[in-house]
Amino acid sequence: MHGGKSEVKFLGSFKDNFPKDQKKHVVFVGRSNVGKSSLINMLVGKKVAYVSKEPGRTRTINFFSFGKNLYLVDVPGYGYAKVSGEERERWKEMIEKYFSECKDRIALILLLIDGRVGPVALDEQMILFLEMYQNLPYVVVLTKWDKANQKQQAEVIKKVRSLTNAPIIPTSAKEGKGKEEILKYFRGIEYGP
Ligand code: GDP
Repeated sequence: MHGGKSEVKFLGSFKDNFPKDQKKHVVFVGRSNVGKSSLINMLVGKKVAYVSKEPGRTRTINFFSFGKNLYLVDVPGYGYAKVSGEERERWKEMIEKYFSECKDRIALILLLIDGRVGPVALDEQMILFLEMYQNLPYVVVLTKWDKANQKQQAEVIKKVRSLTNAPIIPTSAKEGKGKEEILKYFRGIEYGP
């Protein structure tokens, strides 16, 4: 990065046979429509991720190489109401496969939660899932912060805090809020502590 812009490139979509090289993974997870694509595009400064008009469309794990040593890993959103039970099962299998195959290279997970709605049951389940993998560090990224009023913001932070001690980063893809804070994490991973 060295002060300049990191080179970002779409590497591919995977359901299995995930890249096996030693680059570190930064993983984006969250409910469908939480604002994941918008956040990724904000962070990398260009439109690499597909912003959905129809939530829940991406059903594969997308890899982007970021700088020399990182992959940004875009995991499809969970909990879209219209998907069938069978599709949900396939999602779960794919995620479990990803985590078991790539666990040793996952440097950070960004768990995206809607900043106006706050954590719902599925987010709580995701927190439990991540906590089970004890060595996986994660941060909670609150999205669409520009849409939440002060009262909502305070309530959402309180609710998240009651569920986890992970760092909380409020963001707005619309206003660029939170970008530098997240990029600092990326730099820490690229260059070590
Ligand atoms: P994804 O399904 O999680 O990838 O979510 P998208 O990035 O496609 O965003 C879902 C919807 O929320 C889109 O209509 C976005 O324009 C909107 N959105 C995403 N991030 C923000 C944000 O920070 N602020 C506002 N106001 N809208 C956002």
